[in-house]
Amino acid sequence: MFIYQNFKDIKKELPNDVALVAVSKTKPVADILEAYRKGHRDFGENKVQEMVNKHEQLPGDIRWHMIGHVQSNKVKYMASFVTLIHGVDKLSTLKEINKQAIKHDRVIDCLLQVRIAREETKFGLPFEQVQDLLESQELKELDHVRITGLMGMATFTDDVEQIASEFKGLQSFFQEMKSRGHDLKILSMGMSGDYKIALKHGSNMVRIGSALFGDRNYIAQD
Ligand SMILES: *Cc1c(COP(=O)(O)O)cnc(C)c1O
Repeated sequence: MFIYQNFKDIKKELPNDVALVAVSKTKPVADILEAYRKGHRDFGENKVQEMVNKHEQLPGDIRWHMIGHVQSNKVKYMASFVTLIHGVDKLSTLKEINKQAIKHDRVIDCLLQVRIAREETKFGLPFEQVQDLLESQELKELDHVRITGLMGMATFTDDVEQIASEFKGLQSFFQEMKSRGHDLKILSMGMSGDYKIALKHGSNMVRIGSALFGDRNYIAQD
């Protein structure tokens, strides 16, 4: 009941063309089922093993999003069912995704993670490297991965101006890449604390956890 009300409240704020990925990391399958029974299908996890366990226990028509940083050696466990991998920032990871996708005779959709936060972070590529990767011959040869968009995380701060400028930067880069002929559709930006800002700057996929399921008791580790 509580979770369902949160879904209703947040969905009301989202334009129809914005997808909601409900981030269920650390939450029990019962919580996911509650949202599922009310019609929600897109769920996000940041650890491969946890996503695999939940996938095995839950209905087969759930669309699973891997939102965490992906290590190449874990790709094989999710390659048969993952819907979208959000956090790819290496050609070597894309090669592994391609290899595993071939085994399952499918094409796996991926987003490239762009480093937009001013704070120190290990993950995501700077704009120039994203462009280089998009335009590389190596990527063209991976015909079992499809780059369908970009993902970014803003700095964890209360400074709304800073968050807005980081999202704005990714929005204009996204437009620029599209105008260069890249067939990008998804711009995954915004979490519980900043999705309203992300929506103002062109996000069409938000990844929301705590505002839907309540606070997490512990921080999920990679
Ligand atoms: C945990 C997580 C989210 C959701 O965070 P909330 O603040 O709980 O909404 C979104 N994106 C990524 C990549 C995450 O790891």
